Amino acid sequence: MEITVSKTDFLLYLECPKNAWLKKHKPKVFYASELSEFEKAIIETGNEVELAARQLFPTGVLIDGRDESARQQTAQFIAAHEQTIFQPVFMKDGFLAAVDILQYDSTTDSYSIIEIKASNEIKKDWHPQDLAFQVSLLKKCGLNVSKACIMHLNSDYVRSGDLELIKVFVIEDITETVENLLPEIEEQMIKAREYLSQDIEKPGCDCLYKTRSNHCATFEYSNPDVPEYSVHDISRIGKRKLMELIDSGIYLLENIPEEFELSDNQKNQVDMAVRPQPLIRTDFIRDELEKLVYPLYFLDYETFACALPRFDGFGAYQHIPFQYSLHIVDSPDSEPIHKEFLHIESHDPSPHFARSLRDHIGDKGTVIVWYKPFECGRNRELARRHPEYHSFLNSIESRVYDLRDIFSKQYYVHKEFKGGTSIKDVLPVLVPELSYKKLAIQEGGTASQKWNELANGDIAPDLKQLISENLREYCKLDTYAMYAIWKHLKDRI
Ligand code: SF4
Repeated sequence: MEITVSKTDFLLYLECPKNAWLKKHKPKVFYASELSEFEKAIIETGNEVELAARQLFPTGVLIDGRDESARQQTAQFIAAHEQTIFQPVFMKDGFLAAVDILQYDSTTDSYSIIEIKASNEIKKDWHPQDLAFQVSLLKKCGLNVSKACIMHLNSDYVRSGDLELIKVFVIEDITETVENLLPEIEEQMIKAREYLSQDIEKPGCDCLYKTRSNHCATFEYSNPDVPEYSVHDISRIGKRKLMELIDSGIYLLENIPEEFELSDNQKNQVDMAVRPQPLIRTDFIRDELEKLVYPLYFLDYETFACALPRFDGFGAYQHIPFQYSLHIVDSPDSEPIHKEFLHIESHDPSPHFARSLRDHIGDKGTVIVWYKPFECGRNRELARRHPEYHSFLNSIESRVYDLRDIFSKQYYVHKEFKGGTSIKDVLPVLVPELSYKKLAIQEGGTASQKWNELANGDIAPDLKQLISENLREYCKLDTYAMYAIWKHLKDRI
């Protein structure tokens, strides 16, 4: 079968040949699972950054699409020595690519390729390969390519006043690296074309020997014998041990022989798979809970990480804190009181967020979060932007307790956590009556995207109202869930 290998196919092939093959030959399998909110956000961000980058080349002409007419238009612009072309499309010998920015230099009669990346730096094992594919193809098409550059976000830029696009981006010339890579990439391109042209599918895939976090959405299709919860889920299991188990035909945790070498934490996880009762280290949990000082503040933040700094004081991808939920428990027997903050305007929420926190969190008491690096990191950024709240935010950090520690330190292990320690792993087991499943927003990525729509988009008031309510419900459950887990532990110990 004759196929066309696009640059996207080729980069996917370098990552995983089997997955690239499925994309070409079994698109229903490859596209079976919907994109996650995180993946959708990456695509949207990439588009947004590309549009912004193009503004730095005001004379550029854009070619739409990848079809025959786009290729013809490209040929016409090239023949006319058009100075800057966005998305010109090239195809030769079964390879296809569109170039982000192609610039013609009449003095040298040569071209520069500029690849736009929505990252803060060059990714060394991905971006040069991307450019090498393009350089190789354009040379095949007869163009004299003298320069290959990556245009990425400037991690040192902090917005102050209008967004200065010239400072937002950095263009790095990596021609030499790309030229050095060309022979290897050209060899790979031929192999990719051969591999992807095969009609016969290779059974299984390489991730059989890799842990769950490495698996892509097609793992189950390629490895139907591997159960949903398997040895791939054992916390921090190295490649050697995983291989040993797989090669012995052991997929289920309960089938791992007693004498198989595992760390203490891994052993606990494996033991749990066969034990009907959870492992609860009462003394350790009691010691942890006794550290907490009333009033207890169960706190959770929602943020939006914007690639192009939206407000003064922000750099690329710095999180905009737009919402928090807080449940306050004044004394051992009191009911939780709920406080919240949600910013729905288009200006910077930071000062309002900090002021509201200051209004609701007193000078004493433990602040309980789930995974403290996140909230503490945001507090430090807030304090840098708003020094008037520095000592307050600093005091929060000194009073933070991470409730997740009880589970990550394995003071409480349950078979149904399946090795996980996120609030979404723990809550359904300890407090099954509470669930995210009935909510319109069920995870942080969606909350983030919805807020962006709310604050940035031109949307009808009733939709704005609905999104606000959904966001409030979601964040409220995050802190109520923490309260409920703490209460479950406290009542049990
Ligand atoms: S699960 Fe891993 S090896 Fe298998 S297709 Fe996906 S990325 Fe490739």
